[in-house]
Formats: sequence, structure tokens, C-alpha cells
Amino acid sequence: MKIDILTLFPEMFSALKTSLIGKATSKKALEINIIDIRDYSKDKHKKCDDYPFGGGVGMLMTPQPIYDAITSIDGYEDAYKIYMSPKGKTLVQSKVKQLSKKEHLILLCGHYEGIDERIIELLIDEEISIGDYVLTGGEIPAMAVVDSVARYIPGVLGKLESAEDESFSNDLLEYPQYTRPQEFMGLKVPEVLVSGNHELVDKWRKEQSKIVTKKRRPDLIKK
Ligand code: SAM
Repeated sequence: MKIDILTLFPEMFSALKTSLIGKATSKKALEINIIDIRDYSKDKHKKCDDYPFGGGVGMLMTPQPIYDAITSIDGYEDAYKIYMSPKGKTLVQSKVKQLSKKEHLILLCGHYEGIDERIIELLIDEEISIGDYVLTGGEIPAMAVVDSVARYIPGVLGKLESAEDESFSNDLLEYPQYTRPQEFMGLKVPEVLVSGNHELVDKWRKEQSKIVTKKRRPDLIKK
């Protein structure tokens, strides 16, 4: 999969060079390109924002640099183009799975008060929010999309990690997990997990998943 990210703050994406995503890009399981929108500004001072028509506080990102940046990407017409926006649909695991099946994603990060609406009309396929709160920019939301989507791409997770059987698969939260030592600060690991009986372990985990979900996220059970 190829992911192009458009931003005014490319330096924020150094986080994607670390951990599993960093490894995935060096192994070429995933290609990530960070595009500086400012490079496409035709303004002599490379300005990319202006006052909103009709007044109001704050600045808006102007359409020209964004338009030119997106349309200069190879294959942009067929790519799935997403604008990170608090007004979008909230990102959930089923959407993450859907996005992981796309060959090419373009993620547009807004800043200031957002972007000129005409960019959305002309180029954007979907607006995605990462939750009902407002951040200063779309960079952290874009990284959340990349990270969650990448986990479904073959070769990104190692043999030891798995995207299946985790919270939100089958609309359930994950069961409690334990590692060594068997006893810590007087608390023991549930007996069944050290019994060596895989059938019982599976049954216990399924039950625990339901209990945790019912308690914390009854809305998922209703689904
Ligand atoms: N004026 C906008 C509004 O009220 O909807 C908020 C703009 S916000 C300060 C600046 C940028 O951050 C947005 O253009 C968007 O790209 C990004 N952003 C902020 N919160 C977000 C969220 N919850 N999900 C996705 N992107 C978000």
C-alpha cells in the first residue's frame, strides 16, 4: 500500500520512522510519502493561509497549494482521498479494515481553522475524524489512520503480533492478559491460564471478553 500525507508540518511525521511502522517502510511492506503543501504555494512568500470570507476568527488554508499538491501525486485520480476533519465520520475498526484494502491512500491534514471547502468538493472522497474533540492539526489524526491501517497490511506486524482477536474484532473488547511473574504484589494469574488446557483458556477468554465489553462498552454488545 502507498500512503501520501499532505501537511504544512512534515517534521511532525518523524514518529512514523520508529517502531513497527518504521520497520514496515524499510522492508517496503508499506510506502509512506510526506508532502509539504508549502512547496506548492505560488505565493512569493510561500503563504498557504488567508482570512475567511465573511469574517471570523483564525485563518484558513488556501485552496491553490493543496490542489496543486494533490494533483501532482502520481495516480491521485484513483487514490482514496481523505481529509482529516473533526466534522468527518468517527474512525472505527471496521473502517480501518476497509481502508487497509485500498492500494493508495492520500491523507490531507488541515491546520488553523481548516481548509477552503472547495477542496473537499473537488477532490476529497471522505472526511474522517478520530473523535469528538478538536486538535490543532490533522497530523496526529493522519498518524492514527496510518498506524491503525498498517496493522492489517501483510508484513507489517511480526509473527508475534496479530491484528485478529484484539479489541473491536467481533465487536468485543479484549480479555485481560498476564505475563511473568505468575504472582505480582500478591496478585496471582488466573489458574486457568497456567493449566495448559487450551480449550479452557479459549473458553475463559471468550467469557472475559464478553464481561469486559458488557461492563465498559455495552453499546458494542448491542451491535
Ligand atoms: N474549525 C474547525 C472546526 O470547528 O471543525 C477545526 C479546525 S482544527 C483547529 C484544524 C485541523 O485539525 C482540521 O482542519 C483537521 O484537519 C484537524 N483536526 C482537528 N481535530 C480533528 C479530529 N478530531 N479528527 C480529525 N482531524 C482533526
